[in-house]
Amino acid sequence: MRFSRLLIPTTKETPNDATLASHIYLIRGGFIQSVGGSGLYNFLPLGKKVLDRVRSVVKEELDKAGCQEVSLSFVTPASLWEESGRYEKYGKELLRFKDRKNNEFVLGPTHEEMMVNLVRQSVKSYKQLPLNLYQINLKFRDEIRPRFGLMRGREFLMKDGYSFHVSEKDMKREFALMEETYKKIFTRLGLEFKVVEADSGAIGGSGSKEFMVLADSGEDTIVVCDNCDYGANIEAAVRREKACEAKAPETEPGKVHTPDTTTIEALSTFFDADPYYLVKTVAKRALYDEGKSEVVLFALRGSDELQEVKACNAVNANDLVDISEEELEAAGLLAGYMGPTVVPEGVRVVLDNNLKEADSMICGANEKDQHLAGVSFEGMAGDYHDIAAVQEGDLCPKCGSPMRYTKGIEAGHIFQLGTQYSEPLGATFLDENGKAQPMVMGTYGIGVSRLLAAIIEQNHDERGCIWTKESAPFDLQLIVSNIKDEAQVALGEKLYDALSAKGLDILFDDRKDRFGAKMKDYELLGIPHAVVIGKKLQDGLVEFISREGLVKEEVSADDILDVVG
Ligand code: ATP
Ligand code: MG
Ligand code: MG
Ligand code: MG
Repeated sequence: MRFSRLLIPTTKETPNDATLASHIYLIRGGFIQSVGGSGLYNFLPLGKKVLDRVRSVVKEELDKAGCQEVSLSFVTPASLWEESGRYEKYGKELLRFKDRKNNEFVLGPTHEEMMVNLVRQSVKSYKQLPLNLYQINLKFRDEIRPRFGLMRGREFLMKDGYSFHVSEKDMKREFALMEETYKKIFTRLGLEFKVVEADSGAIGGSGSKEFMVLADSGEDTIVVCDNCDYGANIEAAVRREKACEAKAPETEPGKVHTPDTTTIEALSTFFDADPYYLVKTVAKRALYDEGKSEVVLFALRGSDELQEVKACNAVNANDLVDISEEELEAAGLLAGYMGPTVVPEGVRVVLDNNLKEADSMICGANEKDQHLAGVSFEGMAGDYHDIAAVQEGDLCPKCGSPMRYTKGIEAGHIFQLGTQYSEPLGATFLDENGKAQPMVMGTYGIGVSRLLAAIIEQNHDERGCIWTKESAPFDLQLIVSNIKDEAQVALGEKLYDALSAKGLDILFDDRKDRFGAKMKDYELLGIPHAVVIGKKLQDGLVEFISREGLVKEEVSADDILDVVG
């Protein structure tokens, strides 16, 4: 394609709200355009091209693995969500609205209900199973804090797949197949990633794994073992039904209690971990158990500003993920203390000042998080599992080597769901004996638009994007340095035709602009290779550039087709 004809509005201006390289370069490179700065984006021609390339890698690998693409209605009747019980539970990320007849709807943030509805109407017999259906479509989540460009949008593109089986065993086989398929997808996209044990969050289910693109800017903290390949999100908890005995509170309910001040800071130094994540994890995990939001009161009270956050999150733990560093700081948490705090009734706060004892508590389940944060909660009424339910060794490396913390971007998440949706929604099949059984399900997501950001987070320099081979908007940029030089233009046109004929997707920079401006755009857009036709053509030479490292090589104009080929 000819640059002169394309809408590629590159700019030197960094958007005000952008801090991450991917956000800055995707806007500056004219890939995407913000719609009012609220997690909504338009994809311009170049961005749409990258999105389509990523989408086709995802689609090709899924189709090879036997999955079938469908397209589900984005607008979902609320009644389906009422059937699954999620209408009440899902919280404020779910956008609810009514039509003119007062019927209630939601904009799908994920489509378990919708897909189960599709399958329950069309699958009746064990002979029609297994099935793996997916779509690559819009999602809407009213994220409390949309940010970082495509990384955390409110409207975003997701690949969501759902599999249906006659047995748990068959679902597990498919889960393993999806894990392998996802690995192929992320490998083809040129990403360095890690598969980690994960928490199932609002989707639910018994086992889940996340695909973490490794990047310092990632919002997730993971622990990894380089020796045995083990990894876990620090949000992950080993869930054990272990009730915690109610003990008489040592601290007086309602009394303001100011714990020892240095615990978090000291622990975070000791473990080289970010206190923000430690506290966030404690608070988030605690909320997962419905009705136990008192713990959050504990973790967050101390700032009036946080009362509102707490109130809106008492419904849904997921929202709490997005409490910002500033908010925690406002609560005094980053300053290195947990309070002052009003201890909720029936709860005893135990401060752990013995750092050495926390040595083996580095991994990310609840008890360990609490130790990292320097607190534990005792006397939670009733069956408060999760807390105090993790034994030493549950999440330690399998091989005994030390683990290290690193940051990741959650690019994919696969779940073993079981019958959690098929039972309430009545998705059954007749088995070989003619008996109705609930279908056993798995669900598999990839953040397709988030991947664009993830690729750039991992592949950029101070000048701009460096797209990987299979994600790049074009294979090569052909740059005519001086458009007034007839020989340069003639060779440009000739190479453009010849390279296109070879099947390469070429961006032909035939603009009248200065060479310097064209090179700046090349560096910003990040197409893997460029051929520059410039002054050296007098000596029969052109320049071949690799965007990574900006490695330049002089090549005879006669040989360039072979070099590029
Ligand atoms: P996160 O922890 O980042 O909020 P999630 O766990 O809520 O993500 P899932 O419900 O697992 O997300 O959805 C599947 C995939 O969709 C995620 O792995 C991620 O890649 C992508 N995704 C989720 N939320 C967003 C978002 N707001 N913007 C872009 N992509 C998203
Ligand atoms: Mg989320
Ligand atoms: Mg997540
Ligand atoms: Mg997830």
